[in-house]
Amino acid sequence: MGEKRQVYLDYSATTPVKREVVDEMIPYFTEKFGNASTLYTIGLDAKESMEKAREQVAALINAEPKEILFTSGGTESDNWAITQIAHKLKAKGNHIITSAIEHHAVLYTCKELEKEGFEVTYVGINEEGLIDPAEVRAAIRPETILISIMFVNNELGTVQPIPEIGAIAKEHGIIFHTDAVQASGNVEIDVKAMNIDMLSMSSHKIYGPKGIGALYTRTGINIPAMIYGGAQERKKRAGTENIPAIVGFGKAAELAKANFESHVAHTSALRDHFVDRILNEIPHTYFNGSKDKRHPGNASITFDFVEGESILLLLDYAGVACSSGSACSSRSLQPSHVLEALGMPVHQIHGTIRFTFGDPTTMEDVDYAVDKLKMVIGRLREISPITSEKGW
Ligand SMILES: *Cc1c(COP(=O)(O)O)cnc(C)c1O
Repeated sequence: MGEKRQVYLDYSATTPVKREVVDEMIPYFTEKFGNASTLYTIGLDAKESMEKAREQVAALINAEPKEILFTSGGTESDNWAITQIAHKLKAKGNHIITSAIEHHAVLYTCKELEKEGFEVTYVGINEEGLIDPAEVRAAIRPETILISIMFVNNELGTVQPIPEIGAIAKEHGIIFHTDAVQASGNVEIDVKAMNIDMLSMSSHKIYGPKGIGALYTRTGINIPAMIYGGAQERKKRAGTENIPAIVGFGKAAELAKANFESHVAHTSALRDHFVDRILNEIPHTYFNGSKDKRHPGNASITFDFVEGESILLLLDYAGVACSSGSACSSRSLQPSHVLEALGMPVHQIHGTIRFTFGDPTTMEDVDYAVDKLKMVIGRLREISPITSEKGW
């Protein structure tokens, strides 16, 4: 049936680096290779370009450049924010509030802190995948020192009520951290207006290079260092900076801000067309999460009577790449903790696929993927023991 395409629909797992970003990075590997801590021209050039990148990253979330610390990515930012604030404030209290649907970078960090004697409340979600700010408020205790709630969920694409939670945290004088790795470039972020004290970002989710990210910490938070050594990153993260990656991240952030509206319009049009066709043309399918409080390029779909790994394999064979559950757990049989939190039965969790659309995606790609999906789901249901049992 026609020519075979390669269609990548997993932009929430990672994105290709934009050509303009690569072009910006290249000179910093070769002629502009200086160490930003040195005082001669080539080192000062590196330092200057790093500070420009800090401004570009800060501008995407309405922060001040001096509030941006470069890290190795979203995972490190989450670990740093939560662990170091917990340790710093442990004399004040030992209670942390987070949610049941966080990325493992937050969830497993909290689990480690529980071993040290911290107590963690994991707030749940409603049937749309949304956290209720009232539940966060009700979980607050005199000893609560930190609230960490993700901005956009990576599986369901749900946009959480961050301004409301920020206001509650501020009212109680509790530090508020948000994992905004999926939100950056996809939803409006204003750390000042939203009362966000700390925020994690990652470059490779916004068409920048891998292995670089940022932790925003509001002036006055004064987060303790996590890596000791030289004086880099205001003595909070020692080690010679990865200037090419920092420059690339800065450029990617600048493009994300400049192209925000067209990016949202493009990806949401693709996503809506995809969802319309799937729900109309493939029976026994469900759209998960919130319809309006949603990442523009995310569709989470449950296909009854079929198993996700088989769908992924057959789709891959047809040239279509997507994810079941989160990328990090897709090699294990453990059902997704996010879909479990939604109250979804295990057999449906295993039939749930995340499709995420990006700037390079075209309508032809989407139609190709839907056509292949129709074939794949049809074939799998023919051989499915569940469908034959039910006489489907
Ligand atoms: C991808 C992702 C991370 C991890 O970021 P890395 O830069 O890959 O370490 C953290 N949180 C969320 C929500 C993510 O989607």
